[in-house]
Amino acid sequence: MPFDILRSPFAFPHHLIGPTNYDSVLQEYEAWWKQEGQAISDAVDRTGTPWVRMFDSAGKRVDEILYPPDYWRMLQQGYRAGVLWRAFQDKSLRPSFLLIYLTSFYDSGLSCPYTVSLSTALPLSKYGDAALKERFLPELLREDDRNWQGATWMTEIKGGSDLGANVETVAVPDGNTWRLTGDKYFSSNAGAELAVVAARPKGAPAGVRGLALFLLPRQKHNGELNYTIRRLKDKIATRSVPTGEVELRDSEAYLLGEPDEGIYLILEVLNVSRIANSVGSVALAQRAIADALDFAECRIAFGRPVIEHPLLHRQFDERINDLRCAFALAWEAGKLLNEVWEERRPYSQRYHLFRLMAHLAKYWTAEFAVQTAKWCMEVHGGLGVLEEFRVERWLREAMILAIWEGTAHRQLLDALEVIERKQAHHALFEYVGRPPRLREAVDAIDAHLQLSAEQRERDWEPLGASLAQLTAEALAGNLPSVA
Ligand SMILES: Cc1cc2nc3c(=O)[nH]c(=O)nc-3n(C[C@H](O)[C@H](O)[C@H](O)COP(=O)(O)OP(=O)(O)OC[C@H]3O[C@@H](n4cnc5c(N)ncnc54)[C@H](O)[C@@H]3O)c2cc1C
Repeated sequence: MPFDILRSPFAFPHHLIGPTNYDSVLQEYEAWWKQEGQAISDAVDRTGTPWVRMFDSAGKRVDEILYPPDYWRMLQQGYRAGVLWRAFQDKSLRPSFLLIYLTSFYDSGLSCPYTVSLSTALPLSKYGDAALKERFLPELLREDDRNWQGATWMTEIKGGSDLGANVETVAVPDGNTWRLTGDKYFSSNAGAELAVVAARPKGAPAGVRGLALFLLPRQKHNGELNYTIRRLKDKIATRSVPTGEVELRDSEAYLLGEPDEGIYLILEVLNVSRIANSVGSVALAQRAIADALDFAECRIAFGRPVIEHPLLHRQFDERINDLRCAFALAWEAGKLLNEVWEERRPYSQRYHLFRLMAHLAKYWTAEFAVQTAKWCMEVHGGLGVLEEFRVERWLREAMILAIWEGTAHRQLLDALEVIERKQAHHALFEYVGRPPRLREAVDAIDAHLQLSAEQRERDWEPLGASLAQLTAEALAGNLPSVA
């Protein structure tokens, strides 16, 4: 069957990008998911939000999250396979993204702990001073199943898109450290041993320019809890990552970078997560297509398997081609990140090209995942909406991929911003080999930039969407076909 590679999150990327040094690791990891992981993941999704044990029996505050032991075993598989430590050992983000792809095919929520741990380790290694790195980095990169986890907590109750207006957590200097006080409203991987957190140093200016990035351990120097978990959220999906409301009260923290460049560090953190989100979105779309394929080959209507009916057959062909394009966009954005992630301000033009690609990829791949999960449900007909067939889960998971790490609207507007300020669409045009169809889009964008600021925002969406699609198609031209 020519489409067999779609059933494997190892085989599909392997077909597109060729062999890597990680093939045996990935095959072993996939085998584990088939034998054991998927069933654990299904159970976690169905069971829903775990409990927080706030106090131990002696009355000490512990905030322990009560997932079943199988959950921790599932989580550990990815760390053991090297989703974190390989990035540092091999000085490449490639293994992380390959493992996140594979994980997301089975459980896109589980990719979150891996992603936010990576998004903690990278700024720590880049901006932490020697003592901080020596103390914390080896804990994150342990290979012995006792590694620490990271987290990235920016969002507060008043909203995540406009961090400059809505981050109210205050940081006060205290010798070599800082004390943070505030509430983080969406805190994924609650319970993590280390988090990077946005806060405003006391007296710093209002708006994004006054924000700084801090490293916050779960435990204080004296062993007490450094943050507490008010509650865990009941979510429609990504139930494999505990998302909580976290309270900081004079919490010990360490400044990363300079206070006046904090917003750039925060955006660097988010951009790593956006690439992981893009990779995960493509994997989820692959999964939905694979499940639709399995069903359509067996379901008989009007005398033949439904996949053999011309309308549905065409839809499969188109969707598989779109999957190839979405993969190309996410993968290329990841390659650019690999190239530029160590850059510091002032960033190069290459970095601005990466930013544009990251916004287009986050936006386009998540929308594709949502549309593909919906289509997969439709292919399954009535069975698609029943919880017992898992298909409805892909739609729930995909909806979160489109919202966290910045909504679709924000990605489009941030793409527009880097185009306005850095003319990054011209760099993109060169990067993808000057295809004629993209030339037309670039000309249309140049004309669009002549409009008033209000009109530019209002009418940008179709142009931004078209730029993402044409870029994805151009990049997919370099990849083998799937047939
Ligand atoms: C399951 C889950 C886990 C999460 N985990 C974390 C985490 O670990 N750490 C963290 O920091 N955050 C986390 N978040 C928060 C997430 O990043 C935010 O939900 C997201 O950034 C959007 O912010 P908001 O929900 O406050 O929406 P708002 O910012 O209030 O936006 C509301 C709506 O307005 C739109 N909007 C805003 N500004 C504009 C504009 N200028 N033009 C047009 N439309 C606009 C938005 O796109 C959105 O549709 C998580 C969210 C979810 C759902």
